Amino acid sequence: MKEVRVRFAPSPTGHLHVGGARTALFNWLFARHEGGRFILRIEDTDVERSSADLESGILDDLMWLGLAWDEGPDRGGAYGPYRQSERVARYREGAERLVAEGRAYPCFCTEEELERKKEERRRANLPPQYDGTCRRLDDAARARKRTGGEAESVRFIVPPDSERRLDDFVRGEVVFPAGMVGDFVILRSNGLPTYNFAAAIDDAAMAISHVIRGEEHLSNTVRQIMIYEALGLEPPRFAHIPLILGLDRSKLSKRHGAPNVWDFHTRGYPAEAIVNYLAFLGWSPPGDREMLSLDELVEKFKLDRVSSSPSIFDEVKLNWFSAQYVKRGGARRYLDEALPHFPEDVRAAYPRERLAEIFEILAENLPSFSRIVDEIAPFRPGIPALAGEAREAVAGARELLSASLAALGEGEEWSAASIGGRIKDLGARLQVKGKALYIPIRAAVTGSLHGPDLSRVMEIRGRESVLRAIRSALAGIETP
Ligand code: GLU
Repeated sequence: MKEVRVRFAPSPTGHLHVGGARTALFNWLFARHEGGRFILRIEDTDVERSSADLESGILDDLMWLGLAWDEGPDRGGAYGPYRQSERVARYREGAERLVAEGRAYPCFCTEEELERKKEERRRANLPPQYDGTCRRLDDAARARKRTGGEAESVRFIVPPDSERRLDDFVRGEVVFPAGMVGDFVILRSNGLPTYNFAAAIDDAAMAISHVIRGEEHLSNTVRQIMIYEALGLEPPRFAHIPLILGLDRSKLSKRHGAPNVWDFHTRGYPAEAIVNYLAFLGWSPPGDREMLSLDELVEKFKLDRVSSSPSIFDEVKLNWFSAQYVKRGGARRYLDEALPHFPEDVRAAYPRERLAEIFEILAENLPSFSRIVDEIAPFRPGIPALAGEAREAVAGARELLSASLAALGEGEEWSAASIGGRIKDLGARLQVKGKALYIPIRAAVTGSLHGPDLSRVMEIRGRESVLRAIRSALAGIETP
């Protein structure tokens, strides 16, 4: 087989969204599985919407996900440059050649004219294709228009026998019926190529063996196939991967909370969890294991297991993956990533080993690090404010709380085991147990009726902090 060379070709006109990241991942996995190369090409010919910041954001996101490229704008390679804005001469050359060979022609129609024609065709129930006006111009007419200073683009001539068939890796045989596309622009009047033209020229020039991209590009693929034919180039193999839909089954978009990689990064999802989840959007390995490392994904990834039906982006499932990773990796793996999400007072109150212990406790059930603040309350160093249920829980427990002050205040040892033992003894002495015993103490110490194991919380908080909180709770109970 030809050397496997695949590419991810983002336009730097926005952040790397979930769909783009999934496309990058499938290309990357395919390249690694086949021992091929993964190329990053920046498609920045839409000068108005492209920006260097967005480009570097996309590069950072890909690196964060662990999808390093073998050739790209920042690291070069034998087929560079890897930014389309630096390859413009090649597209012009290609367009000139097609014009010289009678496969393309200069088009002088203005935006307004094109709009008007489209509207007329719509009213006449005709497909909205270009009507070929400029194809029929003779040399003299063209010369007149040029002298008159009319802007010209270059339009590709769609051959009359325009039915095309594609043997797609994922979708099997795809038929593009004749008449599906009309003559299309390949070079704009500003001298820049359209996406279809630049992509076809570059995929050929960069010796891309497989184009793996979203199904929404199928209607582009037929145009690109025609460009390869006209230029006498061998087309790559195509694999169109299924759409990603939101839970409401419409195409994933901003309406679904703009799921882009940077958002997940800042919200504190582990990159491995995102990658693992994305791999399952449209692909599945044999067997039913879901938690797979990048290496395992590489080993198992095959295009013939990519599904042709759409997949659903479900944040609940992503959260499940993420929580599994956080729990398994624990503080050893994630403490440094998690720490910035700890509130300042907590970070200042404990040494690193204690923070690691707190994180391990929270990690039992944490989909992303940004959720730490919702769960951290029991470990906050100050005296908790008692309101609502917590206030009620301490109000009826004066005797228990006073006795707990004494029980917790004495003795040398301050460990979860000794704390647990003392609370139990106290319950036995006062003849209270279960909720009646633990809830008031928990409420006094943490300000909440729920939370992680109380003895562990108290151990980590430290004796002084615990006693202070109980004293304060007692002081707050109104004397009858
Ligand atoms: N720049 C195109 C995009 O971002 C690339 C599509 C392709 O892979 O050919 O959609």
